[in-house]
Amino acid sequence: MDFTRKYDLVAVGGGIAGVAAAVAAARAGKKTALVEKTIFTGGLATTGLIYIYLPLCDGFGRQVTFGLAEELLLKSIAYGPGKIPENWRKGQDAEEKNRYRVVFSPASYIIALDEILREAGVDVWFDTLFCTSVMDGDRLAAIEIENKSGRGRLEAGVFVDCTGDADVALRAGAPCVDGDNYLTIWALVNTPTPSTRRKDDGTENLHMAILGGGPAGHNKPAGSRVYRGIDGEAVSHFVMESRRLLLDHYKKLFAEGGGHNRLNSFPITLPSMPQHRMSRHIVGQVTMTDGGYGKHVEDSIGLYADWRKSGYVWEVPYRSLLPQKVKGLLAAGRCMASEGDAWDVMRVIPAAALTGEAAGIAGSMALDRNIMPDELPVADLQKKLRESGFPLHLEDVGLKAEG
Ligand SMILES: Cc1cc2nc3c(=O)[nH]c(=O)nc-3n(C[C@H](O)[C@H](O)[C@H](O)COP(=O)(O)OP(=O)(O)OC[C@H]3O[C@@H](n4cnc5c(N)ncnc54)[C@H](O)[C@@H]3O)c2cc1C
Repeated sequence: MDFTRKYDLVAVGGGIAGVAAAVAAARAGKKTALVEKTIFTGGLATTGLIYIYLPLCDGFGRQVTFGLAEELLLKSIAYGPGKIPENWRKGQDAEEKNRYRVVFSPASYIIALDEILREAGVDVWFDTLFCTSVMDGDRLAAIEIENKSGRGRLEAGVFVDCTGDADVALRAGAPCVDGDNYLTIWALVNTPTPSTRRKDDGTENLHMAILGGGPAGHNKPAGSRVYRGIDGEAVSHFVMESRRLLLDHYKKLFAEGGGHNRLNSFPITLPSMPQHRMSRHIVGQVTMTDGGYGKHVEDSIGLYADWRKSGYVWEVPYRSLLPQKVKGLLAAGRCMASEGDAWDVMRVIPAAALTGEAAGIAGSMALDRNIMPDELPVADLQKKLRESGFPLHLEDVGLKAEG
């Protein structure tokens, strides 16, 4: 081993979940590291050019998600364009005209996320690849990483898997489940076309070409295959084919006339990570499943509302962050345990912030007590989360649970 370092908590993957987990742990006084294979913070939200911070409200004027999820939404527009809908500037529970969400500039968001990590005192390890998990019995004791300094080892009391693909959990021997993806590309482009978006919020120059399949495959190019984001060959094929989609888009645009040519219509920035929505998640001690909205969950760590339709609010179980068979590890973001419709609801930016923060707080509390995260009394965690401003149950925001 070329080097070894010791931390209290290590978050692996510097997407929104990883940033939230690391910031929460560092603010709780823990010596914290964030390991990221690129040189950017934000993951899909920034390097992936996914520039829409989905809502914190239920679609009926009621804010349901708070804490770092809201702080990171505000941060996404701190140094760039995007604006909070008028009705949400008056405070929570405003009459709902537009949902509490924003569009942001990915580059502006990266420099804002860097700042929040710096201020919290997190050690950020950029350009550092998580390679494998090192076990001590059934406990994750360390991870092996690779960067310009060679092969290294980070030891910690608690790890949070925020890789989006459950890489840490899988290599620690935790059961995981794979998901399907359809060919798609979101790219930042120069010229507005029918497939780019215009806004009145300062993002007029942020034209996005959004091409290919949606989450359930609608609009997927005819004859295109289904991709697994955890297969090396499939990842390369997905990236090559998604860029071909963009090239075909321009060829068609130029052929159609209408004044478009290479001088006024061209891509500016391409996603620098594969745009997989659902690649791999842990099998949790509990897994969120279809139809779980509107129900009381005893070990809820917060609320998240369906971003696709109004009125569907989910209580998120702590046990969905805890993998099976492996101790000393939590999962957050799109690799926490949710499947089917619940995965589609929970895989997005604000939900990644919510689960990341909860994992960072839970990990810190476990460290304080010298216990594993799965041994943490849920009532104590919930007390702490409430103190951090999290409503935990539907009743806390004036909703009623079914049954
Ligand atoms: C096409 C598409 C459209 C979407 N639309 C929206 C939308 O409009 N709004 C919305 O809110 N969400 C949307 N999403 C979902 C959302 O962007 C992501 O799911 C969310 O940002 C996930 O955050 P995360 O932190 O869990 O994971 P990620 O953003 O995937 O972050 C994982 C991080 O881990 C790093 N990493 C991975 N493996 C390793 C390793 N081995 N070593 C070190 N680092 C590693 C990655 O580089 C990355 O930075 C969309 C997703 C896609 C693909």
